[in-house]
Amino acid sequence: MKPARTKTPRKPLVKKGSQTSLKDPVGVYCRVRPLSFPDQECCIEVINNTTVQLHTPEGYRLNRNGDYKETQYSFKQVFGTHTTQKELFDVVANPLVDDLIHGKNGLLFTYGVTGSGKTYTMTGSPGEGGLLPRCLDMIFNSIGSFQAKRYVFKSNDRNSMDIQCEVDALLERQKREAMPNPKTPSSKRQVDPEFADMINVQDFCKAEEVDEDSVYGVFVSYIEIYNNYIYDLLEEVPFDPIRPKPPQSKLLREDKNHNMYVAGCTEVEVKSTEEAFEVFWRGQKKRRIANTHLNRESSRSHSVFNIKLVQAPLDADGDNVLQEKEQITISQLSLVDLAGSERTNRTKAEGNRLREAGNINQSLMTLRTCMEVLRENQMCGTNKMVPYRDSKLTHLFKNYFDGEGKVRMIVCVNPKAEDYEESLQVMRFAEVTQEVEVARPVDKAICGLTPGRRYRNQVRGGPVGDEPLVTEVVLQSFPPLPSCEILDVNDEQTLPRLIEALEKRHHLRQMMIDEFNKQSITFKALLQEFDNTVLNKENYIQGKLNEKEKVISGQKLEIERLEKKNKTLEYKIEILEKTTTIYEEDKRNLQQELETQNQKLQRQFSDKRRLEARLQGMVTETTMKWEKECERRVAAKQLEMQNKLWVKDEKLKQLKAIVTEPKPEKPERPSRERDREKVTPRSVSPSPVPLSSNYIAQISNGQQLMSQPQLHRRSNSCSSISVASCVSEWEQKIPPYNTPLTVTSIARRRQQEPGQSKTCIVSDRRRGMYRTEGREVVPTFRNEIEIEEDPCCRGDVYKTRGGGQSVQFTEIETLKQESPTGRKRRSSTAAPAQPDGTESEWTDIETRCAVAVEMRAGSQLGPGYQHHAQPKRKKP
Ligand code: ADP
Ligand code: MG
Repeated sequence: MKPARTKTPRKPLVKKGSQTSLKDPVGVYCRVRPLSFPDQECCIEVINNTTVQLHTPEGYRLNRNGDYKETQYSFKQVFGTHTTQKELFDVVANPLVDDLIHGKNGLLFTYGVTGSGKTYTMTGSPGEGGLLPRCLDMIFNSIGSFQAKRYVFKSNDRNSMDIQCEVDALLERQKREAMPNPKTPSSKRQVDPEFADMINVQDFCKAEEVDEDSVYGVFVSYIEIYNNYIYDLLEEVPFDPIRPKPPQSKLLREDKNHNMYVAGCTEVEVKSTEEAFEVFWRGQKKRRIANTHLNRESSRSHSVFNIKLVQAPLDADGDNVLQEKEQITISQLSLVDLAGSERTNRTKAEGNRLREAGNINQSLMTLRTCMEVLRENQMCGTNKMVPYRDSKLTHLFKNYFDGEGKVRMIVCVNPKAEDYEESLQVMRFAEVTQEVEVARPVDKAICGLTPGRRYRNQVRGGPVGDEPLVTEVVLQSFPPLPSCEILDVNDEQTLPRLIEALEKRHHLRQMMIDEFNKQSITFKALLQEFDNTVLNKENYIQGKLNEKEKVISGQKLEIERLEKKNKTLEYKIEILEKTTTIYEEDKRNLQQELETQNQKLQRQFSDKRRLEARLQGMVTETTMKWEKECERRVAAKQLEMQNKLWVKDEKLKQLKAIVTEPKPEKPERPSRERDREKVTPRSVSPSPVPLSSNYIAQISNGQQLMSQPQLHRRSNSCSSISVASCVSEWEQKIPPYNTPLTVTSIARRRQQEPGQSKTCIVSDRRRGMYRTEGREVVPTFRNEIEIEEDPCCRGDVYKTRGGGQSVQFTEIETLKQESPTGRKRRSSTAAPAQPDGTESEWTDIETRCAVAVEMRAGSQLGPGYQHHAQPKRKKP
């Protein structure tokens, strides 16, 4: 017999799609077995259906001086001591079998110390079938009626499956049965009573949505890993009880899909639960025998039972298996009963045993390391190498952790106190394993044929199977043959009756043959017709197909063209995007510059504003200063002119007196009282009432004002007029010395400065009384004198014209002292004691006046006449 090969999980043919990115964590369950004796100390307590708590046993507490920890561990689910095998199967293994039937891989292993119930969980005990028989039962319940004929699927040594038609499969079967020691198992064989009640699963369990349009084949293999060697437990080797040969270990290989498999491992096709379990049991027996003969400790080996499910779709008729190797889907469920996880020293092994145990432990250590590295890689995003190759066990499992599939682990614990420390280690390993994620398996590829083929085929009559042949049916329709037993030599009836019956049958047969021939001719014609129709249709379809192909090729060209165009446009877009970026950068820079310039402009503008405001202030200030200055000067000049006028007036009066009256007359000093009384007659003196513009006009016409006869005192005197006019004439003849300011010029100036005139006039009006150092000073001709009132030094300082210097007001004092003759009368007016020409001018005029008067009156007065050229100045 050609040995079949065991395969490790095969990656589905479909490419990894988006589904592969989905990952599920390793499902870790915990099963707590009951204590062997009720009075044993218990160190594990089931808190709830996901948590267990470890209590430090008394012995440990004493050793550690009472210092101990109570730790809780969480699992996907915890199964307590009363959990039945069925309950455990439903939760843990059922989904794995379901996946297997739907073409997905699965790995289920039990982990724990020796005696914790790993084998009990996996295999079960009499009457308490474990997960393995239950899995097998569910598989066959699900695919039972869809199983392929034996040898339709044939495993090869490349970890894949070959397929052959049913006839070839039948031939192979006959060939094997003809062999002297037939190895073809039979599903109808009597069940071994040794394990009969282990597989006698009462609960009917079946997978949902089994693909009815496929045929299925189940292959099992059973290996043992001991001391890091792989042994095939199903291999048929002749056993020599005298010189037993040690079993040959197997090697691990990688197939073209990078899946690991045990090269040359026996794969047995099984058709029922009983058959499968029998194969398993055979392996178990062999294991036990080897252990005994080779002095091995069974608890230190790992056993792996593989269930491989092969499925291939039925053809379009739903009659036979599609003979396409690519359409075969292989899925595998590995059930692993690991060696006890306890440390070596606990087993008290020595020598070779110790070394072996070390290796066993080494493989479990490697399993732990692999889990830790995987977890780290997945959680921290690192890419550390997972040391699968460090042990055969992990190397075999590599595909499950690196590829796709569901991985589940049942942690078995014995709650007895002696196992406490080992149980702690088991719990820690479980914690790590729970955090490892495995890619979710993808759904199997769809074959592309219409579903429901099998059902339609059955309705049509179905494949020729165990049903009776047509000839048998025809024969049954004939009347039964009469008895052909000749009991008597003289019996002459039996044979003729038989002949008659046979002739009838022959005739009938002949008729039927004719009928058949006729029908077959008709059928042939029909078939021909149908063939023609089909041919026509085929031709038509071919034509259509050609057309479509043309269209498709045209569209392909168009697509290519568009793709090219698309690429060009993408390139253009890229360039435009780059340009846009550059422009945007430029724009940003320019905007920034603009903002800076705007700010600068704003600053400059505000600076300008400030400067303007300052200049405005300066201009206003200067203008005011100059206005004041002008006013002051005008006032000074006016004052000066008033004084001069008064002097002239005085002189004129004196002259008049000299000319008109020989009798001396006391000159009148203008007083306030008199001014009030004689406002009008007082010639040019303005009235105390506010001056009207009329009046200013009059003043402006100084000449006219002066020449108005009614304004002159004693104008009624004709002689005085003549003298006055003479004096005027004379005055006009005198060349102006230092251009004295006349009333006319004052008036003219007033006219020129209309804005100021009012102020001057107002100040005239107010000029009734001035206070100087507490004394009352009365200007002599208040109507004529204009004094600028300085608000700062009112009444104390008066500004005089010329030089702009302030001088102490010189009290204007009328001449109180008069000479008896009146000639000695002096006018002591306010004269600025400064050498600005005013005084000298004045003196000069006085002198001239005096000279003129003396010249004129020289003859009348004689030399006794005394003239005071210098006006007397009274000191303050
Ligand atoms: P392991 O395989 O872990 O060394 P076993 O499965 O051989 O342990 O179990 C040791 C013993 O304990 C067996 O006799 C088994 O029947 C018993 N046992 C284990 N688990 C249970 C359980 N959950 N209920 C009842 N008996 C159990
Ligand atoms: Mg065991």
